[in-house]
Amino acid sequence: MAKKKRKDIGLGPRGGATLRKRYARVMSTVRATNKCPSCASPSVKRVSVGLWNCKKCGYRFAGGAYTPSTKLGEAAQRVRTQN
Ligand SMILES: [Zn+2]
Repeated sequence: MAKKKRKDIGLGPRGGATLRKRYARVMSTVRATNKCPSCASPSVKRVSVGLWNCKKCGYRFAGGAYTPSTKLGEAAQRVRTQN
């Protein structure tokens, strides 16, 4: 059986090279295990858009759509801790 090349891209030839590269970059952060803000172990997986779950401690939190934390979220966190 022939091996499929670039199986992680997902979009096939559609969208052109720029879109495919952008899609690949986004999906790599979505599929990667991210660091948990509660127990600091790298077991955080995306459940849904903006919803992240830690496999180790069960901590579930809202974050960015494709990354567990965003620049805007960090700014909001700073405001919250000030008051
Ligand atoms: Zn955790």
